[in-house]
Amino acid sequence: MLELDDVTVRFGETVAVDDVSLSLDEGQVLAVLGPSGCGKSTLLRAVAGLEVLTAGSVRWRGRDLRGVPTHKRGFALMFQDGQLFAHASVADNIAYPLRLRGVAGAARGRRVDELLELVGLPGYGDRRTPTLSGGEQQRVALARSLAADPGLLLLDEPLSALDRSLRERLAGDLREILVETGTTAVLVTHDHDEAFTIADRMAVMLAGRVVQEGATADVWRVPATRAVADFIGYETFLEGEAARSVLGESVDGVAALRRRALRVVVDGSVSGVVQRAVAVSDAVHLEVEVPGVGTVSALGDDPGLEVGQEVRLGLDRSAVAMVPDGEPAAR
Ligand code: ADP
Repeated sequence: MLELDDVTVRFGETVAVDDVSLSLDEGQVLAVLGPSGCGKSTLLRAVAGLEVLTAGSVRWRGRDLRGVPTHKRGFALMFQDGQLFAHASVADNIAYPLRLRGVAGAARGRRVDELLELVGLPGYGDRRTPTLSGGEQQRVALARSLAADPGLLLLDEPLSALDRSLRERLAGDLREILVETGTTAVLVTHDHDEAFTIADRMAVMLAGRVVQEGATADVWRVPATRAVADFIGYETFLEGEAARSVLGESVDGVAALRRRALRVVVDGSVSGVVQRAVAVSDAVHLEVEVPGVGTVSALGDDPGLEVGQEVRLGLDRSAVAMVPDGEPAAR
């Protein structure tokens, strides 16, 4: 469906996108994940036809899109701020792409109702958009994007402006909606949890280059480099003696541990002293000083855990990955 071959986009001296090749099958959702400034928006804009390629090609259903203007590509774009028409009702916002395509009145109304149902806002048609919450506005923006019946939906940080709990819920909803509608989509985000929730495939982008691409679960479990591991939420990196004493065996390279790899349990094999304890909604995030190892991130259940307390940590190997030695990601 979508094929990017050796795509490069330069702005003067800056190489924003550096020789990126990616492909995406019909009905799949690809997340381009990376820190701010890594070039992911530029890549998305290049696919949309909003940036000129310095080199390489973007093909859609076998056709090279060079010279094809944005509005002729059959793609829909959705941004962080939904860019709704403030003076128009919710229904008129969603109906806009249908009008452009010449869909007649009654059919248009039915389609708007269907889309409102799909995004979880039945009965909202007559509301003015400024009276909606941020999350509701993004749902309307999504409905409007889907109304265009796009071959490809391009999402640029669609949930970034929302607060965290809403972002999590909406990410789950967005995943369901994209699957239900069979929409092919590219999502750009700096949030690894969001990428994991929403996408089938993940391309990790650092400094203009795609450094790893694959099924989301594979990238999650087997990060290709230390920089990728660091960016997708592995917090503790151990090598040599330190790795051996925590894992109970020597490792080749570096062991990368997610926070949940080490959990406070009475009979844990690793002992240390709590340096920092931060209670979150359903756990306690700990930094624990382990003699001969250094500081490791760990998870506790007891909100009463205190700095200075001695704890024992048990290891969950499913949250450990081996990565080659290398530099962590620059953030
Ligand atoms: P991201 O979306 O990952 O935050 P961007 O694609 O926005 O990154 O930017 C990548 C790099 O390209 C940055 O260094 C940014 O400053 C630069 N850049 C983006 N757009 C322009 C532009 N129109 N002119 C000059 N430099 C740009």
